[in-house]
Amino acid sequence: MHCFRGFEFHDISARNFEEVLLPNREVSWSLMIIPFCSDLTPETRQAFAKQIIEWKSQGHKLYLHGYKHKANLTLPRSLFGRIALLLTNDEAEFAGLSKTDTKKNLDLAIAEWKNIFAGGNVEEIFPDGFVAPAWYGSSSLFQVCKELHFENYDSRFWNWNKKTGRQFSIPLSIAGLPKFFAFFVKKLEGRLPLSRIVRHPTDTPPCTAE
Ligand SMILES: [Zn+2]
Repeated sequence: MHCFRGFEFHDISARNFEEVLLPNREVSWSLMIIPFCSDLTPETRQAFAKQIIEWKSQGHKLYLHGYKHKANLTLPRSLFGRIALLLTNDEAEFAGLSKTDTKKNLDLAIAEWKNIFAGGNVEEIFPDGFVAPAWYGSSSLFQVCKELHFENYDSRFWNWNKKTGRQFSIPLSIAGLPKFFAFFVKKLEGRLPLSRIVRHPTDTPPCTAE
């Protein structure tokens, strides 16, 4: 395993993409995109598709980030999965699922990703990787992602790339932290060699271009 330093922007969707300003545009970001868009207008979906293509052309990496980022509570889960739901306000939608349900949820996520591009003028692209909401997966999720030909997989403590394998890293996120703690996490960002910097649209203070 090698050390890794990276930049991640989570929870981008067709609902908020116009407010997303990437801090430090000089680096390549991994953009974690929630694909669910079936309830939105074709115009909104097409505008989002255009933005996705633009990010790709700027050298950023695109990750599929779950299906709805909200768990289907009717699905059976392991004890670990049920605890993960409690810890994440039901956002860990892949946590503790069976292999069959993992695959079904991933198929739904990929169908929604395709839906973003449907009927528009930009050519559909496949995401560069997958990352589960809140980084909670099932025991089969990584394997199923490889079977579906994702070239990258992002986990809480490591990143995987098809060519280079796993790299250990620690995510530094200020999402939901009070200003005081967020200040200290931000101070750590430039100092921890194994870290990856994580941003969310809901960060306080808000994300702005730096
Ligand atoms: Zn997320």
